[in-house]
Amino acid sequence: MTAARAGAKSRRPEAGVWPFVRGSTRVVGIIGDPVEHSLSPLMHNAAFAALGLDWVYVPFPVRAGALPAAVRGLAALGVVGANVTVPHKEAVGRYVDELSPLAKRVGAVNTIVCRSGRLYGDNTDVYGVRQALRRVKLRGATAVVVGAGGAARAVLVALEALGVRRVLLVNRTLERARVLRRKFSSGGFHVEVRDFSALVEARYLKEVRLVVNTTSLGLHGEPFPAVAFELTPRECVAFDLIYGRWTDFLRRARAADRKTIDGSEMLLHQGAEAFRLWTGRRAPLEVMRSALAGVETAR
Ligand code: NAP
Repeated sequence: MTAARAGAKSRRPEAGVWPFVRGSTRVVGIIGDPVEHSLSPLMHNAAFAALGLDWVYVPFPVRAGALPAAVRGLAALGVVGANVTVPHKEAVGRYVDELSPLAKRVGAVNTIVCRSGRLYGDNTDVYGVRQALRRVKLRGATAVVVGAGGAARAVLVALEALGVRRVLLVNRTLERARVLRRKFSSGGFHVEVRDFSALVEARYLKEVRLVVNTTSLGLHGEPFPAVAFELTPRECVAFDLIYGRWTDFLRRARAADRKTIDGSEMLLHQGAEAFRLWTGRRAPLEVMRSALAGVETAR
């Protein structure tokens, strides 16, 4: 045996060490810009290891101009599927072969499945939101949604499915919120556009059962505008889509003694549903939850 071959052998990963990438390994990943901060590789690779699946989940940093080539490249490379994150969720639908009814309804794709060279765009964020809010009684309720980006779209579709009757949609850019009002308001689901001042007015807050932050405010520790949680009913819940950190938005809710939910349950469940779409297997939820909790505790 040559020295080079002996060296190569000694660098081989130990049996049982994951991921063990070899010729047969199936690949999934995440397309976004940036993707360095994503916890999805950790969560999915922990799930593959727990089920002994010969799969690996990798990050794909993709600039906007490279999106069409990157998406078509998934099929060419035999990649089984991908998650899609900021800033591509709304644009990526143009480059897949088919959209699920839910992805069409939301107007955003966060999961691509490649089957026989064809690309299917789906949305599992709606499922993630529904699961995160599964213990909150929302039938007939009024909710406040702050933000009008891609994540707000998934939240609005989920809230309608959960039986919310009225949403006060608050956004810095009002025209962006008006686009969502036109798209999502329907017979029994009223979306009304308001500016940030509504977050401190009793006439709006006194009947609110849920306040959701779908903006990126707080992602880097920024302060959140004033929200008078003390004017909401005692059972009002604050839900922040940001995960892995204690945001100013949640801090304000906690100070008023309101229940809080952070974005990690949504992240977990949207990931579990994507896992099921790719592998056909039920995701090992507790393994994935522990993988996320390990990072969050370490932050
Ligand atoms: P996006 O499409 O870029 O929308 C960003 C939103 O934040 C817009 O409403 C924007 O308002 C608002 N915003 C940004 N900076 C602001 C500022 N300085 N002041 C006031 N408003 C500001 O992003 P997205 O895809 O909706 O994602 C939003 C957040 O949700 C991100 O933090 C993301 O990490 C999180 N998220 C979490 C999960 C999960 O699984 N937990 C899933 C999806 C997204 P304008 O319209 O005025 O610009």
